Amino acid sequence: MKKIKCKVCGTRFVGTKEALYLATEKTAVLTALTTPAKAFECFDCPKCGCQNAVNVRMAAVMDSGDEEDEADG
Ligand SMILES: [Zn+2]
Repeated sequence: MKKIKCKVCGTRFVGTKEALYLATEKTAVLTALTTPAKAFECFDCPKCGCQNAVNVRMAAVMDSGDEEDEADG
């Protein structure tokens, strides 16, 4: 469990994984084509309700299908 200090009001609260949610920045289409999507792991402060982003999560890169065949045996 993570202790989080609200950057707005200073309240300390425990960030449970149930309360964690991902938020993404809105980007222009052109930006989205060249920049990988980025998501922030966020908690809402129980006291003031402000969003506290605690971590940046990058989007997983999809495999392009250029993978080696696995020989069984
Ligand atoms: Zn707060």
